[in-house]
Amino acid sequence: MAEPLPILVAGGGLGGLSAALALGRRGFSVRVLEQAAEFAPIGYGIQLGPNVFPMFARLGITEDVMREATVPKNILMLDALSGEEVTHIPTGPVFRARFTYPYIIIHREDIHRVLIDACAAVPSIMLEGGAGVAGFAETDEGVRVTLADGRSIEGAALIGADGLRSAVRAGLVSEGDPVPIGYVAHRTIVPMEELPARIPYREESVLWGGPGFHIVHYPLRHGTLFNLVAVFRTATFAERLDPHAYTAEVRKTYADAHPVLKTLTDMMDLDRRWIIADRAPIRHWGRGRVTLLGDAAHPVLQSFAQGACMAIEDGVVLGESVAQAEGDFAAGFARYAKARLLRTARLGLESRAIWSFYHAEGIARDVRNDMCARWQDEDLFRCLAWLYDGIELP
Ligand SMILES: Cc1cc2nc3c(=O)[nH]c(=O)nc-3n(C[C@H](O)[C@H](O)[C@H](O)COP(=O)(O)OP(=O)(O)OC[C@H]3O[C@@H](n4cnc5c(N)ncnc54)[C@H](O)[C@@H]3O)c2cc1C
Repeated sequence: MAEPLPILVAGGGLGGLSAALALGRRGFSVRVLEQAAEFAPIGYGIQLGPNVFPMFARLGITEDVMREATVPKNILMLDALSGEEVTHIPTGPVFRARFTYPYIIIHREDIHRVLIDACAAVPSIMLEGGAGVAGFAETDEGVRVTLADGRSIEGAALIGADGLRSAVRAGLVSEGDPVPIGYVAHRTIVPMEELPARIPYREESVLWGGPGFHIVHYPLRHGTLFNLVAVFRTATFAERLDPHAYTAEVRKTYADAHPVLKTLTDMMDLDRRWIIADRAPIRHWGRGRVTLLGDAAHPVLQSFAQGACMAIEDGVVLGESVAQAEGDFAAGFARYAKARLLRTARLGLESRAIWSFYHAEGIARDVRNDMCARWQDEDLFRCLAWLYDGIELP
């Protein structure tokens, strides 16, 4: 008898690998097609909320993740002009008592490595680099994927986990590019020992919110590294500027900011920038035996630091939904998308609202700061409960 066709996963990021692992652990044969030549871990720091921990348990990777994780002392929001605290979320015992699981920070390389190793240990999962997906067609048996190098690959079903500019999504939905919001992000990692003495917060996850800009920073790898993300509005977000003009623009943007922020922006790596973009939620992510996951399905602004958490939740729910549908991929995919739609859409919509809150200026800034000064821990926990309480797994 012929071997059953594998489920094809386009994209070996955190979402694609979580889906592959969830399916592989349920006995499905999976082939992950990644455009990068190798499955080499990449990236900067990411924060992960407590909602992702039941997913790690289901994937059998909790201990491996926790070995690499750092728990910040606090989550702080500071006013980027005055340096005063706007609000904070305690991440110690009160947080654990309310949300059961911790809030962690991890190097993306480390969590990517945990997922790659866990997938490599499952015989029915095949990881294939240098396999950029260019398009697909549905067939009687499943799907035929065309790769950028001209090869074609048959599969029982296709999961597009190929990120913000998904080729699989382009074959499903008629729309333009993701919508830039006029902001860019720069990410930098420096050894903690090289951090100038005047940076006050080294053990916290900190967000400095200012008019048209914000900066996020936190410790990584058990406090040995310092991860810095600087985000700001610029009319030239879509252009490549010459480095001198760009440095001048960055200095001007942060001219009124608190002195600590000037020190932080001086440390920034200005060579590479991410154009911040999202998409409005859509109702239908798939067709028959083809579906989407993670940023390919529902790219959001980074306001809640939850995009990767959603991609991992997607992967686990998808694995369980397909297993419950006993090989009826179209039914399993439909069940998965239904389970994920409102939660991910809410995150996208609230992320847009919170983006304005972070960047409030003038009277809006005063209102924000006054309102937040009245919040107690329980008020913040109540606002975050829909997200951090997590999901019921199928
Ligand atoms: C500045 C910034 C900070 C962030 N901070 C956080 C945070 O703190 N916490 C959090 O949870 N989220 C955060 N996010 C969001 C998070 O990075 C994404 O939501 C998450 O990476 C999505 O995972 P994914 O697997 O869907 O897509 P991706 O991580 O984009 O992975 C897609 C994969 O597909 C591959 N690929 C692309 N096209 C093809 C193709 N045609 N064929 C084959 N392979 C392809 C890519 O090479 C990549 O490996 C942040 C994002 C940004 C920009």
